[in-house]
Amino acid sequence: MSVTASPAAVRSIYSSRSARDRAPRPRVVMTVRSSSTTLSAVPILTKLQRDCATPLPVLRHVADAMAADMRAGLEADGGSDLKMILSYVDALPTGNEKGLFYALDLGGTNFRVLRVQLGGKDERVVATEFEQVCIPHELMFGTSEELFDFIASGLANFAQKEGGKFNLPQGRTRELGFTFSFPVKQTSIDSGILIKWTKGFAVSGTAGKDVVVCLNEAMKRQELNMRVSALVNDTVGTLAGARYWDDDVMVAVILGTGTNACYVERVDAIPKLHSPNSTSGRTIVNTEWGAFSSGLPLTEFDREMDAESINPGEQIFEKTISGMYLGEIVRRVLIRMAEDARLFGDSVPEKLQMSFSLRTPDICAMQQDCSRDFEIVGSILYNVAGVNSNSSARKIVIDVCDAIAKRGGRLAGAGIVGILQKMEEDSKGTVFGNRTVVAMDGGLYEHYPQYRRYLQDAVTELLGPEISKNIVIEHSKDGSGIGAALLAATNSMYGH
Ligand code: ADP
Ligand code: MG
Repeated sequence: MSVTASPAAVRSIYSSRSARDRAPRPRVVMTVRSSSTTLSAVPILTKLQRDCATPLPVLRHVADAMAADMRAGLEADGGSDLKMILSYVDALPTGNEKGLFYALDLGGTNFRVLRVQLGGKDERVVATEFEQVCIPHELMFGTSEELFDFIASGLANFAQKEGGKFNLPQGRTRELGFTFSFPVKQTSIDSGILIKWTKGFAVSGTAGKDVVVCLNEAMKRQELNMRVSALVNDTVGTLAGARYWDDDVMVAVILGTGTNACYVERVDAIPKLHSPNSTSGRTIVNTEWGAFSSGLPLTEFDREMDAESINPGEQIFEKTISGMYLGEIVRRVLIRMAEDARLFGDSVPEKLQMSFSLRTPDICAMQQDCSRDFEIVGSILYNVAGVNSNSSARKIVIDVCDAIAKRGGRLAGAGIVGILQKMEEDSKGTVFGNRTVVAMDGGLYEHYPQYRRYLQDAVTELLGPEISKNIVIEHSKDGSGIGAALLAATNSMYGH
C-alpha cells in the first residue's frame, strides 16, 4: 500500500475542493509572531496526543471488546451495543451468475442506477453502465409516493436506454438489487421495514412501511416491468461485490461519512436465529459497529462534540473513526488552542467557530503538505477559517490532524481484528491460518493515505508478522453497486 503522496496528488486533492476553496485567494499577509506564541499551544497538543493514544493494550482491549459485543448481539436482540442484524443473504456470488441485472443505490443526496450483463465463470462482467441522479431537495421533505415515483421514473428512463450488449430473454421481468442505506428491519432477502429516515431525509409516510413494496408500487405506476429481488445494506453489497472476484473475502468495512462492517457468519453460531434455514449454513451479519463504545480513548473534545450532536451517547465508534467527524474534532482542538494559547493571534477566527466548518478532506489535504513553510496548510486555514498563520502554528495544526487521524485509523484496525478474532475463535485456524480478505470501501479509506497506513499498522501490530501475512486488507472500489446486482442474480426468481 503506497502512503507517500506525490505533489500531484496533493494538488489534485486540493484542486478538487469546493467553490469555497477555489475562490481567488488574496495574498496572505503573514502575521509574524514569535514562535513563543505558538509554544504555549504545545501543552494542549501534548495532552491531546496522550488522551488519544492507542498503544497496543488499548488496541487489544478494543479488539477483545468488539469480539465480545458481537457474541452478545448474536445471543439476543438488544443484548449489546452491536445490533448484529441478519441480512438474509445466505448465498454469495460464485461467478456462475448469468443474465442482465439492475441495481439501485439510495443512500444520500444522489441515487445511482446500474445495469450489468453477467456472462458466467469465463466471461464474468460482459458489460456494465451506470448513471447518477441528484435528488431534488424538496423531495427529501415530500411524501413517500413523490420520492419513490421520482426514483422509479429515473430507473425507467435508464432502463429505456438499454441496448447493445445488454440482453433480456423474451418474456422475463427485469430484476433489481436495491441498496438502501437507512435503518431497516429486514424481514427477508426482498423485504424490509423502514425504521426511520436519517441523513437529512424527512419524507412522510414511509416509516413503518416495507421499502421494497414502496419501490415495486412506484415502478408499477411508471409501467416499468422490473422487480426487487434483493434488498441490501451497503456493507453487504460491498462484501458480495468483492466476493465475486475473490472467494477469500470474509469481511467488508465501509469508512466514508459513517462507518459499518459485515462478515460471513455460520448460522449455528447465531443463537438468536431460532429456525436457521440457510442451505449454505452461512449468512452475512451486518454488525452496525458504529454503535460500539467500549474502552475507546476519548478526549474532552469528543465528549463535547457528542453532547452537542443530534444523537448524544449514540454511535460513539462512528464519531471517533469516521469521515463525518474527524475534521470537526480537529476544529474543536484548534478553537481551544486559539482561545487558550492564541494560536492564531489575538482573536479566535469567527469562521472557525462554525460547527463542521473544517471537514475531513481539509485535514487530509493539510497532512499531505510537505512544503517547507506548509503553504497548503496556510491556504486551507485561510480559506476555511479566515486564519492567517505562521509556519510554527501550521506545524501544530498538522500534528493535531495527525493525532486524530492516527487514533481513527488504529481503532478501525482494532475493530477489524476484533471481527477476525471472533471468526477465528469459532472456526479454529481457518481465518488466521488461511488467506482471508477484508474488502474496504468509502471515501475516507480511499482518499486518506495516512489513515490507511495507521489502520494497517494496527492490524499488523495486533496480529503479529506471521498471521498478518494471511490477512489482506483490500480496497474494493464501488463494489456495492455490482454487489447488489449480483445478489439480485443469486436470488433471481428464474434461478441462474
Ligand atoms: P458516503 O459515506 O456518504 O456514502 P463516501 O464513501 O464517498 O460517501 O465517503 C464520503 C466521505 O469520505 C466524506 O464525507 C469524507 O468524510 C470522506 N472523504 C472524502 N474525500 C476525502 C479526502 N480527500 N480525504 C479524506 N476524507 C475524505
Ligand atoms: Mg456510501
